Amino acid sequence: MSELTSSTFCNYIGGRWLPSASGKTIENRNPAHTDDLIGRFPDSSADEAHQAIDAAARAFDAWRMTPAPKRAEILFRAAELLVARKEPFARDMTREMGKVLAETRGDVQEAIDMTYFLAAEGRRQYGQTVPSELRDKFAMSIRQPLGVCAIITPWNFPMAIPSWKMIPALVCGNSVVFKPSELTPLSAHNFVTVLEEAGVPAGVVNMVTGGPEIGERLTVDERVSVVSFTGSTAVGRLVNQNAAPHVKKVHLEMGGKNAIMVMDDAALDLALEGCLWGGFGTTGQRCTAASRVIVHERVHDRFVDAFVARAAALRVGDGLHPTTEMGPSIGQKQLEKVMSYVSIGQQEGATLACGGHRLTEGALAKGFFHEPTVFTDVKPEMRIAREEIFGPVVSIINVRSLDEAIRVTNDVAYGLSASIYTQDINRAFRAMRDVYTGIFYVNAPTIGAEVHLPFGGTKATGNGHREAGTAALDVFSDWKSVYVDFSGKLQRAQIDTV
Ligand code: NAD
Repeated sequence: MSELTSSTFCNYIGGRWLPSASGKTIENRNPAHTDDLIGRFPDSSADEAHQAIDAAARAFDAWRMTPAPKRAEILFRAAELLVARKEPFARDMTREMGKVLAETRGDVQEAIDMTYFLAAEGRRQYGQTVPSELRDKFAMSIRQPLGVCAIITPWNFPMAIPSWKMIPALVCGNSVVFKPSELTPLSAHNFVTVLEEAGVPAGVVNMVTGGPEIGERLTVDERVSVVSFTGSTAVGRLVNQNAAPHVKKVHLEMGGKNAIMVMDDAALDLALEGCLWGGFGTTGQRCTAASRVIVHERVHDRFVDAFVARAAALRVGDGLHPTTEMGPSIGQKQLEKVMSYVSIGQQEGATLACGGHRLTEGALAKGFFHEPTVFTDVKPEMRIAREEIFGPVVSIINVRSLDEAIRVTNDVAYGLSASIYTQDINRAFRAMRDVYTGIFYVNAPTIGAEVHLPFGGTKATGNGHREAGTAALDVFSDWKSVYVDFSGKLQRAQIDTV
């Protein structure tokens, strides 16, 4: 267990670390040991959110005018600092949100990869140069920054997700006000210290910690041009509504109900490993978690027996212990949600094949631990097969064919990630074409995206934008088409002459 020390942290506004103006703070506690108080973070007021927006608005112009390759050099330094601090940052993250150390190292690594990848866009951000329809006229398109970006993030990837948003925002020349999840402010603090030390000028990045009210303040303020939000679909809808009156650019990455399809010709051992990792990695608290496993009837029983045995044997505990395979839920509320869905599944008539209980023995008593849980005999219309649980609960659905598997996969409100296990290339390509999600895998689970391809989902998962890849630049810049007429006379475009 980590040391039982704690301290009081600050907001970062206009290049200064400022304590909570009201003195009110939020306690950050370890979900594996609730008596481990990690620190107290400002429970900020609307006024502090305003100050942060002021600072970002003031800093915008100088940052916009800093050549993009120079902005990139600062961000490359940030990536190097992240590399140097990967291990302590990962340990802080496991302590504050519970996922096992191998995964929190991966979270920091994702921030490193994203920072290197998108910082390099400082020397690209390619536009188009095209022939004009007129003589002596030049035509091109360039990207321009938008201004102040509000970055509102969840707790499950506390450094990776902020990096997915802040690095493209910064490389495009925007300034930022960052409101991290109130459950993971330490990783947010660590990320911002790195940006500060790398040389991001005062006011270009600001961080205000606090709850939903702070997110809402940022969303409604007319000086904010972009709101980039990752979180639940219910809150994303509110963000969209609140941002609408000022016609802001709103980027939403929301919930998921992802499925792995296991066909009768699948390499079953491989599928088994993939379903365990996809279903129980990060305690099922991933937007891309494989909370549904859709299995062909010919291999259903064989697969279920092996899957249930392996799930029940997963070692649950403190993520800092090297042998732990699955950590706790993030908090009491999330644990209660998991437990309530276990009851819902039973009431709906699904079979509880393993798990189903909170774990309270020995050292686990002080944390939010729950058994890895598998439901079988799940019907696609059941709530446990349709609603995001965000916990260690996997629903297994028995199907007769690939067509039925695709139908069931698509028949939910969300559209983030899906996958198929099959050895048949024709089936793989049909599924790849016909499943309507933003991400699709063949012979791999629903998790494991790489930073240089677009990330995001369809339907209730997203509103058409993508993060990661160069697609992220489209969220944080606007296109400007530029025409330069060097003929010395008025030339009317074709639209006005034919
Ligand atoms: P959440 O929606 O409760 O909170 C997300 C953030 O929004 C937090 O910082 C929160 O303080 C803030 N917030 C809350 N109310 C707000 C309001 N009215 N206005 C503005 N901001 C507000 O989500 P969470 O519990 O932190 O995260 C879990 C959810 O995030 C899951 O649904 C998961 O699927 C989703 N998620 C999606 C992706 C993706 O890329 N699609 C990635 C990770 C997590």
